Amino acid sequence: MIDNQTPLKVLFLSAEVVPFAKTGGLADVAGALPKAIHALGHDIRVAMPRYGRVSIEKFGLTPATGHFSVPMDNSAEPATLLQGAIDGVPVYFIENAKYYDRDSIYMYPDDADRFIFFSRASLEMCRQLNWVPDVIHLNDWHTAIVANWLKTIYANDPLWSHTATIYTIHNLAYQGIFGYRVLEIAGLADHGFIAHPDVAPHINEVVDMMARGILFADIVNTVSETYAQEILTKELGEGLDPILQDRRDRLFGILNGIDTAVLNPASDSYIAAHFDIHSLEKRAANKAALQREAKLAEQPDVPLIGAISRLADQKGFDLISAIIDPLVRNLDVQFVLLGTGEQRYHELFQGLAARYPQQVAVFLTFNTPLAQRIYAGSDMFLMPSRYEPCGLGQMIAMRYGSVPVVRATGGLADTVKDFNPVTGEGNGFTFVPYDSMALYTALVRAAETYRHRGVWQQLQLRGMSADFSWSASARKYVDLYYRALATRAPARPLEEYEAARDGR
Ligand code: ADP
Repeated sequence: MIDNQTPLKVLFLSAEVVPFAKTGGLADVAGALPKAIHALGHDIRVAMPRYGRVSIEKFGLTPATGHFSVPMDNSAEPATLLQGAIDGVPVYFIENAKYYDRDSIYMYPDDADRFIFFSRASLEMCRQLNWVPDVIHLNDWHTAIVANWLKTIYANDPLWSHTATIYTIHNLAYQGIFGYRVLEIAGLADHGFIAHPDVAPHINEVVDMMARGILFADIVNTVSETYAQEILTKELGEGLDPILQDRRDRLFGILNGIDTAVLNPASDSYIAAHFDIHSLEKRAANKAALQREAKLAEQPDVPLIGAISRLADQKGFDLISAIIDPLVRNLDVQFVLLGTGEQRYHELFQGLAARYPQQVAVFLTFNTPLAQRIYAGSDMFLMPSRYEPCGLGQMIAMRYGSVPVVRATGGLADTVKDFNPVTGEGNGFTFVPYDSMALYTALVRAAETYRHRGVWQQLQLRGMSADFSWSASARKYVDLYYRALATRAPARPLEEYEAARDGR
């Protein structure tokens, strides 16, 4: 019997993990949270696919098993397993050339097959390793199907008779929506098709991987307390709010942390000058270096606004595009953007940089060292998201002394408090309505406050002193693991769920 003191065995499944493969915040979480849980004394192990870009030599990966067979689509596919580690946390890499020997992580027509295979191979891997986790921690749509399997095809398998699942939603907008055929690939065609009376037809008539995670996992959580509330609304529920409402007794919000060992301005090898709260004056060298690297005018007193982001509407780039030209024309500011995404934004920002070469620099690429130099060298960090499950950029910025200018939504609302010039409270600049003038006003307030050096430094120091490490949140996850085990539903909750839903 597991009580709340027993060290747990946890399998953490993620499609991307720092430092092996990353497109966004999920990889940061998967690379850091397991370390913090390991530090609390638990046997946590991570699994991810071995994409072509994950170098066996660079990461010193070694074979962990021979070939094993993974059920797929009424047949079987071979897998092998490699093993590596992040600071003492074992990381297993599922290998299959057909699915993963490609340049990118996602955006292939067979993504459903690729992640169903990864999910199923992760379970079969445990059998091979003779290591059965107490809890499987699933992340985003890619691995949601595991919760479904444990309550259906594996329900009577003694190997899984004690294992609970927790499902973390990192972004509700990416649901993994596919046709009915994926149920055959996943071996679930005989186990019913989920429909919900209140859910929009475009979701009811398809297979929605995320919906399955929400319905079948023993515990569901998302990555900030505010977002956990917001996704219960029609506005941000992305069509799944009725399902989330039904399961709200199992829904929690835990704020992400950042890896403060890696993201540390006092030791970061990518930046020009190290600094901390006791040597803030050394930070100026990073701004000068960034201005040189970005070929901007080397002006120490002109506020430099940084942005590092996927170039998508979610991140507020429609707002930024509406005001950025008048902003750099009318205000004495500089702007450095690092990001990739929608083509129209590529063109818009390239045009802007061509018009204002002394003031605007645009890097349309994915570059982690440059990102860290922008966090360390910018004065302000821009993140006007339409919605934001947690957001890591604002926390990294604060750790590096760049003051965030954000829209108060989701995790941004939980981490950035608006500066109040009367009381001196706050650690950044926020605005509420999703409106370009509200963003413009927030940036004008920030630029004005920047001129008052003493006040600005207080804002910087407050951000740099905050604890954004994983330690508090890791404890909350462990609490959820125990809760998942304690509330673990018996097999076949679909009928129970439907009965409860229909008031039977
Ligand atoms: P999301 O996961 O929605 O993209 P987050 O703010 O949670 O947004 O996480 C984004 C992470 O990816 C941060 O660590 C950020 O620094 C990093 N990042 C985003 N775009 C780039 C880029 N073009 N180059 C390097 N790092 C990037």
